[in-house]
Amino acid sequence: MIQRRPTTTVKIGPLPLGNGAPIVVQSMTKVPTTEIDLCVRQVEDLVRAGCGLVRIAVPRQADTAAFARIVQKVSVPLIADIHFSPARAIEAIEGGAAKIRLNPGNIKSREDIHRIIDAAKAHNVAIRIGVNEASIRDLTQEPVPLEERVDLMLAEMRQYVQLFEDCGFDRVVLSAKTSDALRTIKVNRRIAEAFRYPIHLGLTHAGLPEAARIPSAVALGTLLAEGIGDTIRVSAAGDPVIETHMAVEILLALGLRERRRPELVVCPTCGRTEIDVVKLARQVEEALRKIEKPCRVAVMGCVVNGPGEAADADFAICAAKDKAYFYRNGQRIATVPEAQLIPRLLEALASL
Ligand code: SF4
Repeated sequence: MIQRRPTTTVKIGPLPLGNGAPIVVQSMTKVPTTEIDLCVRQVEDLVRAGCGLVRIAVPRQADTAAFARIVQKVSVPLIADIHFSPARAIEAIEGGAAKIRLNPGNIKSREDIHRIIDAAKAHNVAIRIGVNEASIRDLTQEPVPLEERVDLMLAEMRQYVQLFEDCGFDRVVLSAKTSDALRTIKVNRRIAEAFRYPIHLGLTHAGLPEAARIPSAVALGTLLAEGIGDTIRVSAAGDPVIETHMAVEILLALGLRERRRPELVVCPTCGRTEIDVVKLARQVEEALRKIEKPCRVAVMGCVVNGPGEAADADFAICAAKDKAYFYRNGQRIATVPEAQLIPRLLEALASL
């Protein structure tokens, strides 16, 4: 059982973040914000995939106008990514954003930051304060050695937190991002030690999904296992539903999210295997897509070690030549010809 780090609780619309509240997966829409129907569809796809919050970029006034309409049509609180523009921040806050993402280093005037904070206070909107390695470089105007970056990011975060606290604003979530798994771990550990606000975890520019998967799982998984992190995003180029699935998998692997769908376990196969286990596992995976119940199904390549290794599965298929032994809760209940395996499994799952 992971002990979560105590933090303040920050409401993002109706959603509590921090202090033991369930860790929220978030992602970002990747269609033009002004394509309202497309954007709403993508938000709802992300919700079905497991997102509790969705971020939308609002670089132009037309986007904040569209954002205000999208807010009315979706089932989750929305975050506005306002980037450099105080005007976009205030329009998004007035248009129904539950949270805005702000890198104070990108807003040149203190007065503008104060105006944004005042608007957020007036509309009960949370603000994610972001620092990242790129902003450190922008501030110093010269390359910063790797070993100094974490210190500088922490110093920058201190300065911003102080600025918000001086304005009496504590509805903040902190985020410090790098593109490197180890530095992401280091900087977030330091931030968790220094502040009591909820933390948003993510790795920037993580790559294509297949490249993003492992660094994201290492960085986010390490921090989450230490109790650090209250909302997470896996960043990957392409379909945001894929990055959402990756984030959910990280939480499931750590027992930080309850499994609502079947889990498929497949043996790695070896010289004992007499059938195409991967093909069979793909067929089982496809069949399981229709099942909405949590359960564990194992596909094992032999009857030597398969039954023992799958003993804690609800259902196990242990393959022999042209047939398989079918197990339920570790007990062998049938011998099934290969062609009958999927219908037999679906029949068994229906009885759950
Ligand atoms: S379950 Fe059997 S086939 Fe699969 S890896 Fe273990 S010994 Fe090999």
